[in-house]
Amino acid sequence: MPSDHFTILKDRQARAAVLQATSTMTATPKESYSAIIRLLLEANKVTLAQVEHAARVQGKLTTFQPLLKILKDLKFATDQDVKDILRKTSSSVRIGDLLVELGQISPDDLESACRMQKESDSQEKLGRILVKHNFIEEQAFIEVLSIQMGFPFIEPALNNIDRALCEKVPKTLMATHGFVPIKSDKSEDGSVRVAFADPLDQDALQAARRFLGTRVVPVIAQSRTIKKTLELLAEKKAGRALAVDNTTVVGTVNSIILAALKNNASDIHIEPMEDCLHVRFREDGVLNHYKDFPKEIIPALSSRLKIMCQADITEKRRHQGGRILFEYDEGQLDLRVSFFVTIHGEKIVLRLLNRKHELYDLQSIGLLPRMLARFLEDAVYHPSGVVLVTGPTGSGKTSTIYSCIHALKSPQVSIITAEEPVEYVIEGVAQCSIDPKIDLTFEETLRHIVRQDPDVIVIGEIRDAYSAEVAVQAALTGHKVLSTFHTEDTIGGLIRLLNMNIAPFLVSSTVVSVLAQRLLRRVCPHCAVDAKPTPAQLQRLRCTANDLVGAHFKKGRGCRMCKQTGYRGRIGVFELLVLDEPVRAAILDQRTSYEIRAISINHSGLMTLLEDGLIKAASGIITVEEILRCLPIFSPPRPLAELRRLAGE
Ligand SMILES: [Zn+2]
Repeated sequence: MPSDHFTILKDRQARAAVLQATSTMTATPKESYSAIIRLLLEANKVTLAQVEHAARVQGKLTTFQPLLKILKDLKFATDQDVKDILRKTSSSVRIGDLLVELGQISPDDLESACRMQKESDSQEKLGRILVKHNFIEEQAFIEVLSIQMGFPFIEPALNNIDRALCEKVPKTLMATHGFVPIKSDKSEDGSVRVAFADPLDQDALQAARRFLGTRVVPVIAQSRTIKKTLELLAEKKAGRALAVDNTTVVGTVNSIILAALKNNASDIHIEPMEDCLHVRFREDGVLNHYKDFPKEIIPALSSRLKIMCQADITEKRRHQGGRILFEYDEGQLDLRVSFFVTIHGEKIVLRLLNRKHELYDLQSIGLLPRMLARFLEDAVYHPSGVVLVTGPTGSGKTSTIYSCIHALKSPQVSIITAEEPVEYVIEGVAQCSIDPKIDLTFEETLRHIVRQDPDVIVIGEIRDAYSAEVAVQAALTGHKVLSTFHTEDTIGGLIRLLNMNIAPFLVSSTVVSVLAQRLLRRVCPHCAVDAKPTPAQLQRLRCTANDLVGAHFKKGRGCRMCKQTGYRGRIGVFELLVLDEPVRAAILDQRTSYEIRAISINHSGLMTLLEDGLIKAASGIITVEEILRCLPIFSPPRPLAELRRLAGE
């Protein structure tokens, strides 16, 4: 059989050729570089000469620097190059090598972790060992995977995963491989998004594919959130449903919290009266009666809440506070609880935190077109400096800050926050919740925050000279700082900073803008009718009917949709002060707040809270009553026609 013989011969020759080629290749320096460098070379992102140059630099350095970092420092390669090639060939780079090349761990760390992996019987993945033994913070590990490799980061919870999908995979398999299916994408022919603790773990990917099909789209999540979600899933399956009834105290507490959630309330007020327990919800900023309960329930209910938030149940004569993580069918709710001792017993207020739907984008919070453009340009996207949002409690300033974070958030930007407490969790942002109980104080956190190499620093609230100082210093060193302040209006914010002993030249050179705001109730669109301000109202507004020509005021009559209140939902009313030359000069000259206000109105395009409110009332969005109830009136407003022109309406 000559043909067979020939084939074998050819085969042998080929094999020999390959063997020879491989041996010469391993002898070339190219092959001695790590996988990621080889990929960069193969993709022609860098040249061999550049790599050799970088290797010579590496040899001369006294401390170890990864080759990739040197290539980047020498501007031979960019983060984008790395991202591009990794995304194309994610399976061929081992996470350990990648972390060394990125300078996240040292080669020695990698070696010890590999040794641990070999010695352990549990077949643990390298990524997990590195995190578990503190070679690298899990957050940094995730950042490498999500930023460098483009895996989206998500926070799985019972309310954002598809439980039917989870049923398809054995729970033990998900637990050992650290993944949980999120959802199937209907638009993209059967692809399934799956959250992995380590999306590079090929075994985990294989396991997921076996049960969910080949079109698994990996995203990344923290291993402990995956674990927690799996635990909650198991509890649900075991039928440990939440007790909701009015026969037990546990059921009563659950039913109150769930009702508040359903009504979209921000706070629950539980108040002992002489003859009953009075429960009210704050909805759209106003308290509404929910239900009364018999007086006898009070001690048990208060004890139950104290147990839930780990307060002292024996203490009934002192004010107390705590936090509750309330787990229910659709997810988790964070509650801040306060017990306040009154003559009738303890009044309990629960604030509902992290209600996701409260997140708006800046386009929809109610900034009029020209003010929005100016706020984005001169504040949010301004490269550095302090941006302040001011207003009293409940004016929506935290929501605005979160909207700004959303607008700024990108893989290229590092955002870090110090909040008391974190009210909404935002993916991809390093949020720190201040907790004085464990000595994690504001001062301590702020001291560390600047060492985290952030681009944007969010300080929950400037409440003393120290936090003001930190904000100003961070802005001086080129950071962008977002914070809130508890003042009536924009000028008040500036004056308050000056009163905190921040030198006028520092205020004028670091603060870029101040936004003052209030949340006013919107007129219910289902029962709105035309309205006209009374002479007394005009007088309080400090304007005449002539000033308001062209206005169409409206008012809600009250209907089923608005529970007979005439109001439905809320809208922001704003005053934006941009610190341009005239305003800066006024601060440096230490002018009075009255003078700074006049300069801002006449020379810097400031529209006051009252004026912004009037424009909105004149379009029938809010009522004159709401303006008088909520807005400060420092000076008479300009005529409506002029205001509309200024606002770009
Ligand atoms: Zn209505």
